[in-house]
Amino acid sequence: MSEAAETPARVIESFGRRVIVESQAGVRMPAELFGKRLNCVCGDEVMIRGPQGSGDVAKVVRVLPRRSLFARTDSRGRTEPLAANLSLLVVIIAPEPEPDLFIADRYLAGAALANIAGALIVNKSELAGAQEPEFQARVNDYERAGYRVLRISAKHDEQSVAPVRALLAGASAMLVGQSGVGKSTLTNRLAPESERATRSLSDATGEGRHTTVSTALFRLASGGELIDSPGVRDYAPPPVEDAMVQVGWPEILALAPECRFNNCLHIREPGCAVTAAVAEKSLSPRRYESYKRLLNIMRGLAPEYERRR
Ligand code: GDP
Ligand code: ZN
Repeated sequence: MSEAAETPARVIESFGRRVIVESQAGVRMPAELFGKRLNCVCGDEVMIRGPQGSGDVAKVVRVLPRRSLFARTDSRGRTEPLAANLSLLVVIIAPEPEPDLFIADRYLAGAALANIAGALIVNKSELAGAQEPEFQARVNDYERAGYRVLRISAKHDEQSVAPVRALLAGASAMLVGQSGVGKSTLTNRLAPESERATRSLSDATGEGRHTTVSTALFRLASGGELIDSPGVRDYAPPPVEDAMVQVGWPEILALAPECRFNNCLHIREPGCAVTAAVAEKSLSPRRYESYKRLLNIMRGLAPEYERRR
């Protein structure tokens, strides 16, 4: 690499201002962000400048345009980017621990708002709890909404994981779910070799271990890539205008054209096809409730949204 040559690379692990990048030739190295205003996250395609002599570290000098940016609202109401260039967000639930489906819905909404497809994995489906009518009805809500739903048993049934591999092949995916649903068990099945680049690289750079929270990208032998992020217990999408919230509910979006008003928010408007569908339960009241909750959350975030515009 000549003195100031810039070459393309991919951010495969990130912890704040420091990242690990992978060159197109597959060489991994630690890198720092060049300049205060530059920001990048796992999954970003960047231009780097190689180390200028010994003791130097590669610099990320530019972030290339993103196909998508998945972000959340942090506890202070600020937008925190989580991963770049995702094409698929997979929410994992299980009969136990008892799922908080409002969080699952918010994740799926955050994905949709960022133009990222969503899917649901039901793990531990060999457990009796997975057969309970109430649980099955909740899961069916997602299928009826149009989401791809895969029922697996990551721990006990290797065969059941095959459709997950097929789903992820060709995708750049992130798995999210409450602690205890089996995210690591599934990740280890999908990418048994998924040792984080940090483990080997931190030794080489003498920077000690980064056992702390980082987000990392693994390539799957079966195709596609998986971004593994440290468990986010709660999730809310970045602020959007009221009318955008329904983008997170495909089944609501599908009915919206039948509402009397084209700016219908499906709350108390007359001639609303959505509330009518909820009344006759052809649209899940639980999913609808969760739409209203996110609408309220977004209204709470509205001052922040106005300020940043
Ligand atoms: P994580 O917190 O989401 O990463 O969950 P883990 O992968 O650590 O799994 C949590 C617990 O669920 C562990 O005791 C796993 O052995 C168990 N587990 C994972 N997958 C399954 C499954 O398919 N069926 C059952 N019954 N238990 C599972
Ligand atoms: Zn309506």
